[in-house]
Amino acid sequence: MQTIENYDFSGKKALIRVDFNVPLDEKFVIGDDTRMTAALPTIKQVIENGGAAIIMSHLGRPKKGPEDKFSMRHLVPHLSELLGGIKVKIAPDCIGEATQEMADALKPGEVLVLENLRFHPEEEGGNVEFAKQLAALGDCWINDAFGTAHRAHASTAVIAQFFPNDKLFGYLVDSEVKSLDKVLKAPKRPFTAIMGGSKVSSKITIIENLLNSVDNLIIGGGMIFTFVKAQGGKIGSSLCEDDYMPLALEILKKAEQKGVKIILGIDVVEADAFAETANTKIVPTDKIDDGWSGLDVGPETIKIFNKVIGESNTILWNGPVGVFEMEKFSAGTRAIGDAIVKATSKGAFSLVGGGDSVAAVNKFGIADEVSYISTAGGAMLEYLEGRVLPGIAAVLD
Ligand code: AMP
Repeated sequence: MQTIENYDFSGKKALIRVDFNVPLDEKFVIGDDTRMTAALPTIKQVIENGGAAIIMSHLGRPKKGPEDKFSMRHLVPHLSELLGGIKVKIAPDCIGEATQEMADALKPGEVLVLENLRFHPEEEGGNVEFAKQLAALGDCWINDAFGTAHRAHASTAVIAQFFPNDKLFGYLVDSEVKSLDKVLKAPKRPFTAIMGGSKVSSKITIIENLLNSVDNLIIGGGMIFTFVKAQGGKIGSSLCEDDYMPLALEILKKAEQKGVKIILGIDVVEADAFAETANTKIVPTDKIDDGWSGLDVGPETIKIFNKVIGESNTILWNGPVGVFEMEKFSAGTRAIGDAIVKATSKGAFSLVGGGDSVAAVNKFGIADEVSYISTAGGAMLEYLEGRVLPGIAAVLD
């Protein structure tokens, strides 16, 4: 198979779909350039091996046509700096005659950034003619934007048909796919998934899909109370989605049939207010006082989590198990992080993904001590749900 490692870029113009959708302030200063730095290995691989790079991305949410505040030109000086000071050119648009001329004139080692793809509604519409015009700019297509891989947009998937023999994953997408597959397709057992967060509704499809592959499923956070109430427990004022109670019971039944151990914990930290200053008590998970809410897992539950995680060889973590943003309710989430770090140091493969668990890992300063952090958000969640991502399928087909 052709890969970014073995593809011959010499004399070729590589169209690289990146995710440079970075936060910009009102003075166009980049708030966090992680997404740009993440794409550097791919860009460098092209330009250091005799190719020219044509960078394409969306930025922000332009509504109707070009808007200066969403112009890719704001990113050009920083990209140039990240690439060691080489000159980076900016095209007036992402398609059209003038852009085509600039692309045609590119020499090996040069970098051209196309204007925001979403200045054209055809991008999100997945328009074939628009994709064809983008494709005319380059000799090969590299998808390095995992964050948009779940969208069948012109530049993320539709364009692939114009490069039947010259389409590749960039390093970023390649490592996301490999890491997720390591967990989902060939986990070293025991495999434990930890699902946290506030709502069952947003995680239910993932939980159902994970039941096909995990040995243990730790459920934490506000989600547990839908399960607890469905089983007849008292949950006080804790979060609950009554509509999802039948589905919660079904999941417990399915897990039993499949031999998956579901761990909901046995105690919680209950609080009389959603605040750092709240009064708290440790109570059994199913005996929460009226008017109080469970906001973190309790110490006995942490011991159970530690044991299960400590015995695991593959660990997937998505979502905090308590209101970790408040110090008072962060012990459970911190304990999960520590247990994962310990298991990783003993050889387990650990993957952390999803906005809030990544935020937690960063908050606790353990980002370097887990095996892989996925920052792809929606795309990663869809992958965990077992869906085929158009941006991935387009390269593999
Ligand atoms: P989600 O966006 O669904 O992944 O949920 C993440 C949010 O869930 C975080 O902001 C947590 O503070 C919140 N959370 C976790 N546990 C609880 C809980 N027991 N009660 C209320 N919110 C919670």
